[in-house]
Amino acid sequence: MSLHKISVQSVKGVGPAQLEKLNALGIHTVGQLFESFPSRYESYEIVDLHQAKHEDKITVAGQVVVPATNNFYRPKQSKMQFSIAVGDEVVKVVIFNRAFLKNKITLDVPVTVTGKWDFGRKTITATTLKLGIHDDNAIVPHYRSNNDIKSKTIQKIIKTAYEQYEPDINDDLPRQICDKYRLVSAADAIKFSHFPENNEQAKQAARRIKYEELLKFQLKLQVLKKKIKYTKSGFAKKADDAQIYTFLQSLSFELTSEQNRVLGEITTDLESDGRMNRLLQGDVGSGKTVVAAIAMLFVMTDGYQAAIMAPTEILAKQHLASLTAMFECLPEYRIAFLSSNVKGKKRREILQDLAAGNIHLLVGTHSLIQDDVAFSRLGVAVVDEQHRFGVAQRGKLRQKGDVIDILMMSATPIPRTLAISAFGDMDISSIKELPAGRKKVQTYVISDANLADAQTFIKETVLDKGQQVYIITPLIEESEMLEDVRNATLVFESWKATFNGIATVGLMHGRLEKDEKDDIMHDFVQNKIQILISTTVIEVGVNVPNANLILIYDANRFGLSQLHQLRGRVGRGSEEAYCILLSNATNTEAKERLGVIAASTDGFEIAEADLKLRGSGDFFGAKQSGLPAFKMAHLIEDYKILDVARQDAYDIMASDEFEHNPEFLPLRDYIERTIANENHQFD
Ligand code: ADP
Ligand code: MG
Repeated sequence: MSLHKISVQSVKGVGPAQLEKLNALGIHTVGQLFESFPSRYESYEIVDLHQAKHEDKITVAGQVVVPATNNFYRPKQSKMQFSIAVGDEVVKVVIFNRAFLKNKITLDVPVTVTGKWDFGRKTITATTLKLGIHDDNAIVPHYRSNNDIKSKTIQKIIKTAYEQYEPDINDDLPRQICDKYRLVSAADAIKFSHFPENNEQAKQAARRIKYEELLKFQLKLQVLKKKIKYTKSGFAKKADDAQIYTFLQSLSFELTSEQNRVLGEITTDLESDGRMNRLLQGDVGSGKTVVAAIAMLFVMTDGYQAAIMAPTEILAKQHLASLTAMFECLPEYRIAFLSSNVKGKKRREILQDLAAGNIHLLVGTHSLIQDDVAFSRLGVAVVDEQHRFGVAQRGKLRQKGDVIDILMMSATPIPRTLAISAFGDMDISSIKELPAGRKKVQTYVISDANLADAQTFIKETVLDKGQQVYIITPLIEESEMLEDVRNATLVFESWKATFNGIATVGLMHGRLEKDEKDDIMHDFVQNKIQILISTTVIEVGVNVPNANLILIYDANRFGLSQLHQLRGRVGRGSEEAYCILLSNATNTEAKERLGVIAASTDGFEIAEADLKLRGSGDFFGAKQSGLPAFKMAHLIEDYKILDVARQDAYDIMASDEFEHNPEFLPLRDYIERTIANENHQFD
């Protein structure tokens, strides 16, 4: 019986009270209990000093060479210092509030200390000090816990469960894979992750667990990909070239070679009888909309309908405006708009016309996927800012037609290697260059001390010319939305006072009603507001060409890709554009990160840098991506394992053994179960 079917209640000693606490942590089964891996380890294993890096937390042992001195800097608060010889090095030790040990720390006494290593000063600021050499390799796991249940208790319960159920732990990985990578067994992985005897065991457990998670993830994606493409074949579409030509002729610009290239990839999909499931990624302003428009026209000329869905009303309206303009040259096509604000008779009429096939292109928000929206013959559906929609929502759209082609769009460039792995169920097209003639946004990093200068600059360079400004207020954790609003309001008050009589200042934040947000945005578009103070709720795709400066508070707290997105709000007109990043961070990492943004305007390059610096890894805001939450693996940090797993998944599925060798049975079962769970989205 699978441990995922056995309740934690069956673990000895777990009574109703403890059961409730475990449930509160999302632990219901023994399987889940085993998979509640420690969030971190505290290590007391003695390390080789030569291997230790600056600021590592390390444990070393040695003999005292300079005896302890102690001083009380406040009553009951003291600082003790001494030095020890560790191998060929003399290390200074600083430890607080250990006055009682002072007389024991004398010449030649062996001691073991744990603490933070300052490489330059050859000093350990210790948190633990033991007399004697303690090479017990101790490493202590810490669990995500809450006030009700302690980390130690969780570990104890896991220990009991392990003793009880060890023989029942199944190994899902085939022998040959474990051998190939020298992975520990499933049972050992559980043992070593929860009760490691040393760092090495914890490391081996993590290697195995991450690999298994990522391999399963890849297998699932690749099976889904095959399934979407081939199980139910789509309809091959054939475009009317004359109409496409008319459309292209009427554009005020020529497509760039990059746009042409991705269009080729898209139309190849449309022409084939497989189903398109493609991600089109390209920087803000790279011209994805017109590519989508041509893809939609392509199927419309063959008698199909098209739909484009955007995450917000503002964005959807913007698409409506630009698509309406683009399609003026082909008046036979009817375009309609649908959102939650389209109600009553109007809405009924649209739904009727849509079902009758009298509307050819539907633009809208997630209203498009509501149950009562029925197309007569939907051929292609475009999802803009796809990461803003969940997997289920995208799946629902897929059900709006018999076998429709889907084009997802994203303005968050992701390095190709990572994109292939993370979105393995989609094909990927990337627009790598902006249309020619775009000005680079000039980017400066300044500290709060220079804010007044920046404000003078804003007045003289921007406002006096009749242009507009975005101010992005400090980033606060999402859970503290109120705090966010408070901050935005403070910034608003201060800017209003500073620019009193010079400019109208508006405030936008997440707590406003949808209508209020729309009104403010509208006023900004109309230049009734010149300075828009906003939390990050302002939309990625919003286009106000007259706004040519953006100032971002606490820039160091944003991810690089997010900063790049925000900067994309400006530089959409013909005027010089500016981005001012406010940051008081003094550490090298923050400076380096902001330096990347200041130096580059290439979204892909910035994404690569973000990946290397392992900043906040904001390609996949956990909630936004629709990607699974892993137990241990991390898509960014473990992308090397991810890449290996992707190749392995491919090889496994291509081999005969997958179907016939019983060693692969657990993986086959796993895939069948997961696919069954998700099936409704892909039928
Ligand atoms: P995004 O990829 O961010 O959605 P848009 O599709 O909104 O970008 O395009 C941004 C702007 O660039 C629009 O005003 C659009 O008309 C314009 N544009 C698109 N393609 C080209 C091109 N090949 N040459 C010049 N301008 C273009
Ligand atoms: Mg766009």
